[in-house]
Amino acid sequence: MVMSDKAKQHVDSCRFCWMCHHICPIGNATGHERSTARARALGISLVNRNTIPLKEIMDNIYECATCGGCVHVCVTGWDPVMFTKETRLHAALEGKLPSYIQTLLDNCLETGNAYGKTALCDGLTAAIKKHEKKTDTLLFLGVDARYMVCEQAKKAIEVLESAGVDFTTLADEPASGAQLDFLIGAANETKEQMTAAAKVLDTFKTVVVYDPNDAKALKQLYKEYGVELSCEVVTYTTYVAKLLKDGKLQPKNTGKTVVFQDPYQLSRDLGETEEPREIIENYAVLGEMLLNRDETIWAGNILMAQYLPEVIDEVARRRLFNAESIGATTMVTASVSEYWALRHVKQDKIEVLSIEDLILG
Ligand code: SF4
Ligand code: SF4
Repeated sequence: MVMSDKAKQHVDSCRFCWMCHHICPIGNATGHERSTARARALGISLVNRNTIPLKEIMDNIYECATCGGCVHVCVTGWDPVMFTKETRLHAALEGKLPSYIQTLLDNCLETGNAYGKTALCDGLTAAIKKHEKKTDTLLFLGVDARYMVCEQAKKAIEVLESAGVDFTTLADEPASGAQLDFLIGAANETKEQMTAAAKVLDTFKTVVVYDPNDAKALKQLYKEYGVELSCEVVTYTTYVAKLLKDGKLQPKNTGKTVVFQDPYQLSRDLGETEEPREIIENYAVLGEMLLNRDETIWAGNILMAQYLPEVIDEVARRRLFNAESIGATTMVTASVSEYWALRHVKQDKIEVLSIEDLILG
């Protein structure tokens, strides 16, 4: 398999200490040994040794959420996300993607989103149109909010409106490239999509990024891909925390006691843990999940639910159970995709709120 020397070395460098075993949200949800990081590496190693064909491990390669939980705890500094993404790229170049991934990829290339959607819901179209005038500040909503959870996109807009921010939203917002990075890694198509987005974003002074997945792409992955951005990129939570500090939002305490579900893209990748907490503490009493901040356990997303719906439902259910086990009754999330996954679980023990829900009441 075509793979960097570094990735090959990581595939073969595990010490079998199993410290990463219990923190994999997918492995915990499926209960299968094969879903864990180490088992994935063994599969890749067998392909590299021509013992099994690539197609035999491809479903397993797309089971990984690339959440980085295993990377965070690995004692050898081993990086399963790196070699998983390199394997995806290799499969794409060889034309060996599973058909369900090929469909998502084709959608991304044709429509800019993996869901193949071309129209926004009516209410969101109107909300975006209200802010079509060019300003210095762009609110970048992202494909999950725009096409799959448009109520939350509208609320994200409403929060900035209530703070009196003069900002722009784009009817034809470009894709950040985050979905392509997940599906096929560092392919030319991914870099081209990022470069096209950068051209649009750089016509603004500040870009406020609603979805942590896009924030990770713009603030971290673009640098890795060599895509330059000269605008200031700010996460939505950092921006809203500053609005509160500056007295632009008048918080009302909801009387709720809540826990915060750290999105791994904010906490592990971007090192942002306190800004969402500063927001929440203005509206509620904040408790903590046992695994919080950079130890967070991912709670699912919309993209993987397209091809692993039952597994993603179980991932979210288990995270809700973590909250229930410490006596929490309300969970607040800053990720629109985790919000969707958590709200899709049929249960009545934990109330799931977004940061915007908390602010808007
Ligand atoms: S990146 Fe996340 S989903 Fe993938 S193997 Fe590691 S812990 Fe599991
Ligand atoms: S933590 Fe690292 S060394 Fe230990 S089992 Fe997991 S991958 Fe192997």
